[in-house]
This record gives sequence, C-alpha cells and structure tokens, in this order.
Amino acid sequence: MQLLLVEDDTMLAQALATGLTRAGYRVDHAADAPAARLALSDHAYVAVLLDLGLPGGSGLSVLKGVRDRYDTTPVIILTARDQLSDRIAGLDAGADDYLVKPFQPDELAARLRALLRRAQGRVSPVLEARSIRLDPATRRVTRDEVPVSLSLHEYRTLLALMERNGRVVTRPQLEEAVYGGESAIESNTVAVYVHQLRRKLGDDLITTVHGHGYRLGEARP
Ligand code: CA
Repeated sequence: MQLLLVEDDTMLAQALATGLTRAGYRVDHAADAPAARLALSDHAYVAVLLDLGLPGGSGLSVLKGVRDRYDTTPVIILTARDQLSDRIAGLDAGADDYLVKPFQPDELAARLRALLRRAQGRVSPVLEARSIRLDPATRRVTRDEVPVSLSLHEYRTLLALMERNGRVVTRPQLEEAVYGGESAIESNTVAVYVHQLRRKLGDDLITTVHGHGYRLGEARP
C-alpha cells in the first residue's frame, strides 16, 4: 500500500516515514507543492498525508487540484495547532480527516486504518464518451473495453475534454489542464497530444473548432 507524504519539515517527514514503513506502508515523500503535484499525477496512492504550509504553493492548492480531477484518494491534512481556519478550509476543499501537530505515530496509523476502511466502498464517477471510458480514480482508459495506454499529458488532455463533454475547450484551458501552471511550453504541444489521442482512440473522437480549441464529438453540420 503506497502512501504519499507531503511534508517540508525534513525531521518530521523522516520520523513519519519510518513509522509508516514499520506499519507496512510504502511511503513516497514530497517536500514541496510542485513535487507533490507531480507525484500525484504520476501515481495512484491509497492515501495522502498533506502538510498545508509548503514551499512552492499551499497544500490546499494541491488538494484542490486532486479533487478537480475527480480523484477521490483519501487525504489527511497535517496542521499546526493554531491553524483552525486552515483545517476548516482543508475539509471544505475535500480533505477526509486532519491531524494536529504534534501527534503520536500510533494515532496517525489508527486514523489511516479507519480512513482506508471507509474509502473501500467509495466509487468515483467514470466518464464516458461513446466507446471510451475514463476512470479518474485509477487513470484507466479503455476503448471498447480494451485498455489504452496514454502518456500523462495525453491522459490530462483527454480528461479535460471528457469533463466538458461536447463543449469547446480552448487551447489556454487545455494547456492549463495539461501543465497546471507549470513552466512555459511550446504552443503547438497540445495539438500534438490531440493528434496522439485521435490516433489511439479514433479520428472522429475530437473535433477541432477553428480559432477556439477542441471538443469531443463530430463536427456539427
Ligand atoms: Ca510545513
């Protein structure tokens, strides 16, 4: 069972990772917000332990990014004692539980067990368009029930189009969905992902709306 621990306090992170490893989890560690976003887009974790005060962006923005993708991975936020407003904001943004620092490793382990039990029956919505199905929880994409292998950027492009099922997605919106505000990119790369998606999923799945962007579905007459 693989966990993501997002914590910039190195000593605390090491102590938590050691305890969690002993409890039988595999632990990935991210020490800032960009590293957390990258890890979350590359892996499916059973749960995330999320510090809110992070270099490079807030834990809250990381959490919102996860929930915006319909990703229901359980999240426990780790907060300082005096940050009640942060705790509330975290729960409002879709956190499942919180722990106030300092806490005992046993308490964390117990909360995790409870959370994983509750999460077991949880079902996240699967997006569908014709014979294409996309499951945001597992990042699995199938065409006619056959799994299709997509790169991370192809997957994000497809997710953005499927979320807006049939409505136009502009190029800037797609770039934001694919790169999430990461560094500058060449302006034609989204077109490359669309080309790859058409190749893998069918020529008529994505329509170019000239001067605007793309949408799912065939061109309107
Ligand atoms: Ca911190």
